[in-house]
Amino acid sequence: MDFILDTDHRSLEFIYSKRSKPSARIERWVLRLQTYNFKVQYKPGSQNIADSLSRLVPKNSHECGNGGNVAEEYIRFIAKEAVPAALSPQEVEKASADDIELEAVRSCIESDNWETCPLAYRAIKSELTCLGKLVIRGTRLVIPLSLRQCVVDLAHEGHQGIVKTKQRLRSKVWWPGVDSDTERKCRTCHDCQIVSQPCVPEPMTRTKFPDGPWEDLSLDILGPLSTGHNLVVIVDYFTRYFEVLIMKTVTSEQIIKGLEQIFAGHGLPHSLRSDNGPQFVSDEFENYLSEQGIEHRKTAPLWPQANGEVERQNRTLLENMQIAHSKGQDWKEELPKFLLAYRSTPHSTTGVSPAELLFNRQIRTKLPQLKAMSRPEAEGTRDRDATRKMKEKLYGDAKRHATECDTDVGDEVLLKQKHQNKFSTTFESSPYRVVERNGNQVVVQSPDGRRVRRNISFTRPYLRPEPSVEEPATPTVEDAENPSVEVRRSGRQQRPPDYLKDYVVD
Ligand SMILES: [Zn+2]
Repeated sequence: MDFILDTDHRSLEFIYSKRSKPSARIERWVLRLQTYNFKVQYKPGSQNIADSLSRLVPKNSHECGNGGNVAEEYIRFIAKEAVPAALSPQEVEKASADDIELEAVRSCIESDNWETCPLAYRAIKSELTCLGKLVIRGTRLVIPLSLRQCVVDLAHEGHQGIVKTKQRLRSKVWWPGVDSDTERKCRTCHDCQIVSQPCVPEPMTRTKFPDGPWEDLSLDILGPLSTGHNLVVIVDYFTRYFEVLIMKTVTSEQIIKGLEQIFAGHGLPHSLRSDNGPQFVSDEFENYLSEQGIEHRKTAPLWPQANGEVERQNRTLLENMQIAHSKGQDWKEELPKFLLAYRSTPHSTTGVSPAELLFNRQIRTKLPQLKAMSRPEAEGTRDRDATRKMKEKLYGDAKRHATECDTDVGDEVLLKQKHQNKFSTTFESSPYRVVERNGNQVVVQSPDGRRVRRNISFTRPYLRPEPSVEEPATPTVEDAENPSVEVRRSGRQQRPPDYLKDYVVD
């Protein structure tokens, strides 16, 4: 049955509301009325005349009734339930009695003066109550500092993940920063780390979209064709316009000559991308580019995806030439036709024809065309390209679960070990120290001074567990004989306690 309870005691309205987090002493009354479905509504005394029956209750009913005792019993019950099974209530009470912080909180609760109360407790003062030396928040026991590590260790028994471990703790106990203490325990647990997954590869690096036409170019050699010719293709990333040179030999000298011809028409770009072919890494080629003030970028061979689109376009070009050749046509004659068609056709990525983006006008072809066709802004082109690339990147990275791995020299890492049987852990038990990092390559040193080179994806950053009663001693690199290795405690991961994270201030 639903009913409305009128009261002239305003705070009752809050205590019985859904948002209320009362202390155990008050919660007991809330629980007692839980079977009734009612809404508490405040009505000032002037409009809410109490009926006379409620005034006929004997004056000392509060003292002689067992109201007070029931409340105490309820709190005792909560405290007993909340004490972790491996600890006795006496232990917790003794540690609470000795705890300086809880001592201060107790005196605040007793005096109801919160001026000197530690901030983390002041924000939840309405939920706090005492039982002897124990401090209770709502239905959870506040654990004194000296027992917190032990309680977290108990909750992590069985090596459950962070979420499960937190859940186990949350229902029974609380202290300021309980969540961050739990997270740290789970992240630094030695046993959990050696069975976890390795560090993932670095995210794919993206070709940043150029700011304008003919700024960033890519150079590729296709061929040789069956006629012995090579096609040297120069693509402008911004407009997708490309120039093609036909060459019998692809030496640095020949390529430079070809580039000079093209640059005479279009001007010098800011950068030129190529692979690490011998004609591109020669002094001659490098000198030519640096004299022209052109930055030479060499694609990391690890990530051919970065130039995937250019490669696809080149393939189309090559295929067309092969088709022409197989049909008995002279592919050299067909090439200009192909180029005119390609350059004047709106590009699938930019939505505009390459020639139009580069020359800011449409080039005439045999096909009839409208003169004043609206031209999308370059801005739109850039957005579209950026969006599409981002999608590709997300897709590509998701496939490899890539996240940045910021392992650095001096850090400790675990090293992946051979899978011997189904009980072998992912990693060797002893952490290694990183002594060198070069891109995705790391050189690591074992506790006994042995050095190995590995790809970063075979490692995982190791977080040294906090000293604790139960933790097995892990061999440390500090014991190693090589004292030249800079010893650094993995302090990087340590954060100040997150006092303000665990509670909500309404
Ligand atoms: Zn663990």
